[in-house]
Amino acid sequence: MAEEKQVVRKKIAAAADISKFMADYYHELDAASKKGDPKIAWCTSVGPAEILRAMGFLIYFPETHSAMLGATRMATDLIPEANALGYSPDICSYLTADIGAFVKGVTPLAKIFNIDSIPKPDVLVYNTNQCRDVQDWFKWYGKKFNAPVVGIHTHRNIGDVTAAHIDSIAKLMEGLIEPLEKVTGKKFEMDKLKEAVRLSRDCSNVWKKILDTASATPAPLTFFDGTTLMGPAVVGRGTQKTLDVYEKLLAELEERIKNGEGAVEDERHRIYWDGMPVWGRLSAHSKLLAGLNTNVLASTYCNSWIFSALDPEDPFRSMAKAYTELFIVRDDESKEKYIKEMLEFFKVDGVIYHDAKTCPNNTNCRYGMPQRLSKITGIPSLTIHGDLNDLRMLSDEQTKTNVEAFIEQLDES
Ligand code: SF4
Repeated sequence: MAEEKQVVRKKIAAAADISKFMADYYHELDAASKKGDPKIAWCTSVGPAEILRAMGFLIYFPETHSAMLGATRMATDLIPEANALGYSPDICSYLTADIGAFVKGVTPLAKIFNIDSIPKPDVLVYNTNQCRDVQDWFKWYGKKFNAPVVGIHTHRNIGDVTAAHIDSIAKLMEGLIEPLEKVTGKKFEMDKLKEAVRLSRDCSNVWKKILDTASATPAPLTFFDGTTLMGPAVVGRGTQKTLDVYEKLLAELEERIKNGEGAVEDERHRIYWDGMPVWGRLSAHSKLLAGLNTNVLASTYCNSWIFSALDPEDPFRSMAKAYTELFIVRDDESKEKYIKEMLEFFKVDGVIYHDAKTCPNNTNCRYGMPQRLSKITGIPSLTIHGDLNDLRMLSDEQTKTNVEAFIEQLDES
């Protein structure tokens, strides 16, 4: 059995700027919520943020809040509160933890940012491109706050994204404008949307460059860094502030590459992570793998906020394309093609699939994909069983034993 060493991943200096960015973001929302101005829209993580930005809303993303419930290990105890309301323990534990927290009147924002409650929505806007759970989640809050809920219903499990897909989604996006104008009391301006789309595309490009630095050997970045550094890519896309903070981060990572500095000491193995992180075990998993001189350096998850198709000259159709060609929306054939390309690009020698009990949408190992991909690429894989937020769904001992055995297998190959 491989021995566990105390190897920590190298700290990223720009992470402090990102923490400040997130603190400012939540304080701005809190002030707006208390004052009632500017208006606040809740949005799903891959929802039509650019439209909301262009219409002057501050945007709150409940999934990010729920990830914080997971990372602070508050989630597991809160999930039963939502179960008691009829939301099954088998459905999205972002939803159940978040609703549970609201029912109990608690939030991680209190401890982290000294903010005592989540911001009140003036409108809630979802896109079912990722799953149906977001719609149920937002409708529950819509009733609680007596606020309108509007959404886009996206095709799922699609192969090639066709003009017909794009046209239909673009129409649904245009259809949001009228109800949103009723909330803001102001007219929609196309120039503002073009500007938000341009900034969002620029944010996406720099975020992609950041993640792509992990293709260097040794990799200057880990997946575990990515899960926290991605905050601005999710909540701040379409803003200049995000661009600024990410340019600085990119420069630091490029400097590491120039100096041949890896994020993990003596990198021996390079792993791709498919599926969601286990938020309550980020540090434990990071230490476990770094202790085996193994860098989990890239993931499907962090790449989900790359929207290369955005084009300010064709805002609605390009948004429809960008939000429909995402990995999570696609069929298995497209997903396999994508992962195969990523394994080659990042020069990976092993894959870890996370079978997240409550999120089938971000779990890709239940229908033979690991076996098919291993056969084509010759790259071995390990599936770990767990969950994004519900820590009752995993065994730490089992995960540790399986990961160590997997790395031993890579050592021998
Ligand atoms: S994609 Fe998964 S984790 Fe995200 S909201 Fe949907 S069910 Fe929850």
